[in-house]
Amino acid sequence: MAWRAQNEISATDAKRIDGSILQVDSQKKNMIYQLGEAFYKANKDNENVDADYKVAIDNINKMEFNRKVWINRKMKLQGMRICEGCGNVLPYESAFCNRCGVKLEAVAEDLLELTEVQPNSENE
Ligand SMILES: [Zn+2]
Repeated sequence: MAWRAQNEISATDAKRIDGSILQVDSQKKNMIYQLGEAFYKANKDNENVDADYKVAIDNINKMEFNRKVWINRKMKLQGMRICEGCGNVLPYESAFCNRCGVKLEAVAEDLLELTEVQPNSENE
């Protein structure tokens, strides 16, 4: 059996309250994002992180790598590459960085496959 509202509320009140709910939802989402980002930064190289978080952290690490691959692909099309040591932009064929002197390794060109995340049935 579905319940009906006992009282009518004005469209203005409804709109104001719905706006407040949206604002709180947005603040909460932003806070959860910040929490997740702080947790990721603190644990991205932690091999002993709880298994519940391991897959997500591994995937974010892979996404960071894949982002670099896409940047490399764009740079290569432009005949350029980025020094991994100092971020200097160089001609693609360069063997050494002319700023920091590091020997340039082969540019990563293959994307990493993300691990499929199993939905957590307890939270659904
Ligand atoms: Zn360099």
